[in-house]
Amino acid sequence: MSFDIEQIRRDFPILHQKIYNRRLIYFDNAATTQRPQQVIDALNRTYIEYYGNIHRAAHFLADKATEAYEETREKVRGLINAPAREQVIFTKGTTESINLAAFSYGEAFVGEGDEIIVSEMEHHSNIVPWQLMAGRKGAKIVMLPIDDDGRLKIELLDSLINEHTRLITCAHVSNVLGTINPVKKIAETAHAHGIHIFVDGAQAAPHLKIDVQDMNVDFYAFSAHKMYGPNGVGVLYGKRELLEQMPPYQGGGEMISEVRFAGTTYNELPYKFEAGTPNISGVIAFGAAIDYLGSVGIENIANQEKTLLAYATKRLMEIPGIKIYGTQPEKSGVISFNVEGIHPFDLGTMLDKMGIAVRTGHHCADPLMQHFNIPGTVRASFAFYNTPEEIDLFIDALKKVIALF
Ligand code: PMP
Repeated sequence: MSFDIEQIRRDFPILHQKIYNRRLIYFDNAATTQRPQQVIDALNRTYIEYYGNIHRAAHFLADKATEAYEETREKVRGLINAPAREQVIFTKGTTESINLAAFSYGEAFVGEGDEIIVSEMEHHSNIVPWQLMAGRKGAKIVMLPIDDDGRLKIELLDSLINEHTRLITCAHVSNVLGTINPVKKIAETAHAHGIHIFVDGAQAAPHLKIDVQDMNVDFYAFSAHKMYGPNGVGVLYGKRELLEQMPPYQGGGEMISEVRFAGTTYNELPYKFEAGTPNISGVIAFGAAIDYLGSVGIENIANQEKTLLAYATKRLMEIPGIKIYGTQPEKSGVISFNVEGIHPFDLGTMLDKMGIAVRTGHHCADPLMQHFNIPGTVRASFAFYNTPEEIDLFIDALKKVIALF
């Protein structure tokens, strides 16, 4: 499959505009990516051609919408190599997927005195739902630390796991450090001790080939908006035998089988976990995003992003006083850095005025900021539609900003 960067950039209309009269350079892809015309068209088509509420009414529009919605479920199944479509649950995003899993898993499997291991590099979304669950259940959160290169100290796992441990959770890819964690290996360790593993795949699914069966993870979560799809759509994958034992997260329409005031029975998977009217058009358009990713090719995407990461790292190292956080080799296209003597927020604001979108702050990873003893970083995160030329412009702008201070 050939990789035509000019054509790819033409597919993304939002990239071709001026910001403050400067060419837009969008390096905030870890926060959210932009959408190609194909996804925008798919979203519009649902409203123009076949919008109706799914799974319920017996009429043409509802049937067509249901079919398209369920088609996306099958596309997601294929994308992550899930064994069955019933194991793909639609949510509104990674955050909701984690809250769902933490609540329902906690109800089914966690009791007083149990322990959950959470890595130090997690996004708040993969810390707080487990803390809430632990609070309800009288369980304890145990931290799996990182080293100063941003590598998880998985050699400590054996000593952290004991007879109270129920689950370990970590990101597949860190949204701050870019570290790609060896989740297959962590899953092996977890299963050797009879515990489960939940993986936050928000920063991995847009960039890597995901195979939930090969990694043998028990749960995997991600968001469509970081994958060139609509916002308000996410996925929770789970092993069937676990999902079947877990109670519903929310009550409402669709998730029931029969409702009586004497008691309610629940629908089968995946509907048991999909209460209420979902983001119908968003899920359908996510199908178009998966098609788009397939047409570019995940290997091409990974290669382009690897080239961008290597080039940007090399060019950033030219800058005196720069410190990059996340320096171990297994890394995705995210660079967090600080420049000595300049607050990250000031750098970000000045870069914005030069047309360059980066993220500054704690990146919803306070414990990680505490590890490095910093208030925040500047984060540049790449997508396959970015180019080395944009990196050159970014470095020039950064040098100008630093000279001003
Ligand atoms: N986990 C990680 C690693 C993330 O980067 C993000 C988004 N920044 C989330 C979870 C939360 O995703 P969402 O906001 O789409 O729910």
